Amino acid sequence: MPLDHDIAARLSRPITIRSIEAIAIALPLAKPMKMAGVEIRTADNLLVRIESADGTVGWGESASAPNMTGDTVPAMVAAVRDHIAPMLIGKDARGRAAFTRKMAHALHGNTGARSAVETALADLVGRTLGVTFADLYGGAVRDSVEPMWLVGNPTAAEDIAEAKAKTREGYAFFKLKVGVKPVEQEIETALAMRQALGPAVTLCADANCGFDYSRAARYLAGVDAAGIAFLEQPLATENLAGLARLARTSPIPLGADEGIHSLADIEAHANAGAGGLSLKLIKLGGPAATLAGAMLAAHRGLSINLAAKVSESSLGSAATLNIACLVPSADWGVSLTQVYLAEDIAKPALRLENGRVTPPAGPGLGLEVDEKAVARFTVK
Ligand SMILES: [Mg+2]
Repeated sequence: MPLDHDIAARLSRPITIRSIEAIAIALPLAKPMKMAGVEIRTADNLLVRIESADGTVGWGESASAPNMTGDTVPAMVAAVRDHIAPMLIGKDARGRAAFTRKMAHALHGNTGARSAVETALADLVGRTLGVTFADLYGGAVRDSVEPMWLVGNPTAAEDIAEAKAKTREGYAFFKLKVGVKPVEQEIETALAMRQALGPAVTLCADANCGFDYSRAARYLAGVDAAGIAFLEQPLATENLAGLARLARTSPIPLGADEGIHSLADIEAHANAGAGGLSLKLIKLGGPAATLAGAMLAAHRGLSINLAAKVSESSLGSAATLNIACLVPSADWGVSLTQVYLAEDIAKPALRLENGRVTPPAGPGLGLEVDEKAVARFTVK
């Protein structure tokens, strides 16, 4: 059957990249967040804005993560401005898959910068061709996901009050941030959370490398009655021997997050006895690499958590959400992090309905970026 004339015309026309901008932004968090000893008040992120010759614009976002990817905002800006943009300006954005590969060869590491550029290219191509982000990457296998809420207050009473308020909004999956307080207090918090929230909610915990072996072992034994689904990244990233030892006796599956940056890391953690892992676009280097990681994880029988970094706006979170709808399984939940921001930069904001979040409809990421808001949060 011949293609519809409009579609054929759109597909055959080059999408010439006219400009690529790397924009440093600082988005205020709704409240400061503490993770393994570090308190953060703003989300310091990179935005990538790619405009084609016909004026269509595609956007991508990556959070900085000095202690996870090594990416700082100035380094991501320089990577895009000085190394990636000169490779792509004047090229046809329909070559985005080849560019993604070329970027990975030309620029070792720099996974945050590369992820934001790949996302912006896909958004641009999707908008131009009238195709959704999910369809560009092979098509969704689920139309919505159950997001999780991160809890990490100074006291158990505050954690419980916050989680109860969130259950009323429809959240039923909570991640406790641990590895910060004395371990006995963290065990008591987990037990109190389970008692207060009842058996229907899913609880998991994330130590962000904050335990040593003995504290991790004490935590795992102590929270048995709390029904914790998994403990994420209990030990330092390089301590795979400790992970293997811990996994042999742990009553709870162990996850990896900070330790996962490549397919080789996924293999190594599967071999060390991890039960699952957290995939982030900024760690793997973009949507395509994250999908490849998810396929390998599923093949190795690992559970999968898809996560944006605290905090990405609805832009970065929508990219994660779309990929979460494509992976074989997202059984360890999905972290969408625009909810921790005081203000967003894209519309429509991702919303929870009946306990689930659906990707915005429309071509590309389906979002309109508010360029005035971007200007307000831009860091010069
Ligand atoms: Mg984590």
